[in-house]
Amino acid sequence: MDSHLAALEANDPDVFAALKGEEARQKAGIELIPSENYTYPEVLAALGSVFTNKYSEGYPGRRYYGGQTYTDTIENLARDRAKEVFRCEHANVQPLSGSAMNQAVYLGLLEPGDTILAMDLSHGGHLTHGAPVSHMGKLFNFVRYVTGPVDGSIDFDALRASALEHKPKMILCGYTSYPRDIDYAAFKAVADEVGAITMTDASHFGGLVAGNAMANPFDHGFDVVTTTTHKSLRGPRGGMVLSRKPFAGKIDKSVFPGLQGGPHMNAVAAIAITLGKAQTESFRQYARDVLTNAKALANALLGAQASLVTGGTDNHILVLDTVKSFGLDGRKAEETLDAVSITTNKQIIPDDPNPPLRPSGIRVGTPAATARGMTADDMERLAVWMVRALQAPDDASRLAEIDAEVRAFCEQFPVPGID
Ligand SMILES: *Cc1c(COP(=O)(O)O)cnc(C)c1O
Repeated sequence: MDSHLAALEANDPDVFAALKGEEARQKAGIELIPSENYTYPEVLAALGSVFTNKYSEGYPGRRYYGGQTYTDTIENLARDRAKEVFRCEHANVQPLSGSAMNQAVYLGLLEPGDTILAMDLSHGGHLTHGAPVSHMGKLFNFVRYVTGPVDGSIDFDALRASALEHKPKMILCGYTSYPRDIDYAAFKAVADEVGAITMTDASHFGGLVAGNAMANPFDHGFDVVTTTTHKSLRGPRGGMVLSRKPFAGKIDKSVFPGLQGGPHMNAVAAIAITLGKAQTESFRQYARDVLTNAKALANALLGAQASLVTGGTDNHILVLDTVKSFGLDGRKAEETLDAVSITTNKQIIPDDPNPPLRPSGIRVGTPAATARGMTADDMERLAVWMVRALQAPDDASRLAEIDAEVRAFCEQFPVPGID
């Protein structure tokens, strides 16, 4: 690795300087974007390895190019580890991203025009769950279910009525901005009644399922689970489709040759490493700590009279209603926290009256801070800084003072993968 970086420094100082700048940025502040994380040094090594040179179209043992001795080894390792970690019958580790993995499932198991019942986007669903601006939203007929206003629970009577009316071919659960766990058994019961395929998009919480800290949809008979590999799993950017056996053939064909060409074998190697880590007790402890920290942060914010969507969290995500809490829209709140080296993202809240670029809240999560070793006590300090900043967004001297405190605090926490 060192010789690679030395070559970069010598031969492309512009890119090298940007890389060093990004390393410094990632160390300097507290990363609270819930979809981000710090990956392992081993993953960075695999991503920058010679596996990036190799074409491996096809699957282990059935490739369209020669020279696959070592690529077959790593893809088999990644698939076997995925099956073990997620307790499932089949794993496809080739999707190039979370978006591609979901497209591969829809296109492989359904016909264009088929109906998919999925979570409303302002209630926490993802762009790839049929947002009108997405290609999938045009190809398939997405029907929405919503979450309740008080504790964010899903109204399964309403969901069942909608399923009976629309006869979806697939019922999809999973989210990008929803702070509660999912009642998989209740989804499965409705799906069985209407003969729908059950899919969970666990992109956000895949690592928490892998670490046995949250419920596993396969324990409740789900057919398909997708997850990104770079969020709570702490791996390289990528996606996986996990499934029961009867769906394996269709899914593999849909990923390749249906949707993609050559897999990124450097990422597949890194996914194998990530899943090896996920099999350890220290990863399971990490997953539990992510949840403990989220609860601690939620309680500290609630104690300071902040308003959280659904009133709390069961997972790694908190959605803060910044209009209600501080009279600030989400953009101003994000900018204010940026000024004190705390990184969050503006977020629409359920039935948000405001537009996505100036929404009513921010989204906060604990996977990255936990990967740095921050604890529940640290979450309490963090909440104090956040509230002090958000109460005085135009007080430059107060923000500068908090920023200095946050930066000094961060120096105690080394960042995995950065010297
Ligand atoms: C992040 C995410 C995706 C998409 O992942 P990309 O790798 O960004 O394409 C899909 N679904 C959900 C629920 C996500 O949170």
